[in-house]
Amino acid sequence: DTSAKIIDGKSVAKKIRDEITAEISRMKDAIGVVPGLAVILVGDRKDSATYVRNKKKACESVGINSYEVRLPEDSSDQEVLEYISGFNDDPAVHGILVQLPLPSHMNEQNILNAVCIEKDVDGFHPLNIGRLAMRGRDPLFVPCTPKGCIELLHRYGVNIKGKKAVVIGRSNIVGMPAALLLQREDATISIVHSRTKNPEEITRQADIIISAVGKPNMVRGNWIKPGAVVIDVGINPVEDAKSARGYRLVGDVCYEEACKIASAITPVPGGVGPMTIAMLLSNTLSSAKRLHNFK
Ligand code: NDP
Repeated sequence: DTSAKIIDGKSVAKKIRDEITAEISRMKDAIGVVPGLAVILVGDRKDSATYVRNKKKACESVGINSYEVRLPEDSSDQEVLEYISGFNDDPAVHGILVQLPLPSHMNEQNILNAVCIEKDVDGFHPLNIGRLAMRGRDPLFVPCTPKGCIELLHRYGVNIKGKKAVVIGRSNIVGMPAALLLQREDATISIVHSRTKNPEEITRQADIIISAVGKPNMVRGNWIKPGAVVIDVGINPVEDAKSARGYRLVGDVCYEEACKIASAITPVPGGVGPMTIAMLLSNTLSSAKRLHNFK
């Protein structure tokens, strides 16, 4: 008996994209501005190329102009920095995204620092992260994946204030900002990571679990408090002879077990993934509005 409500990220993301499409046409009609997103991809990682292609398609679907730069694996930091500098100065570009991971010879820190914070739609600039962490400060942009997780909780009417929330994973791009966001929403947070002893004892206390680890089926049914809400960020390929590609994608959470215990859960795929892209579009639109002072 599966009792958990399915949190349908795909349909929420569709709704958000429709809202964005309408806003973009309102802005275009009023002031003649079309939002623009620049994407820089270095190297030829297949997964990164797929993500960039999906982001480009998503831009087209809502009416955002996208500008793509593809550089070879052996490019220098200087070449990437020059593109960033050009986009920083280009009034047609409202968002700049450097697809991660960069090749290992590059200085990721220097490169992310070079994106001007007004166009940092990924929210990875240390100034934006720092403001996210500080009380009374507001970042210009919040990282897309954690923002998508919180948006799902809001749209499904999940109360966050005063609740116990556990984030599994503490990466700069997902776990850490997810924990900061939950805290801003007045949850009491715990963060579980690879050095945590007895993680299941901590997760079992949570009203809300966000898992961003990258390990299939790590979060078992007995890690979850009955009635908890589970947001599964993990995207993990596992072998599947029945699939044409030879693999399928699963989350970090053992879905069959979790469904019997949680009150609501995101599926993988179709949960957080589509929300990440919707939040990127939303950040690009709000950037264009802010840069053109359009309300
Ligand atoms: P990282 O590898 O950067 O971080 C993984 C985190 O998990 C680390 O903080 C690590 O701890 C922690 N961890 C590793 N093993 C364990 C363990 N056994 N128990 C508890 N914690 C553990 O991954 P990302 O944050 O970039 O991504 C996480 C997952 O989310 C991946 O599957 C990725 O594909 C997916 N993802 C999905 C997105 C989406 O749009 N849906 C977007 C981005 C990522 P420590 O810090 O100690 O090393």
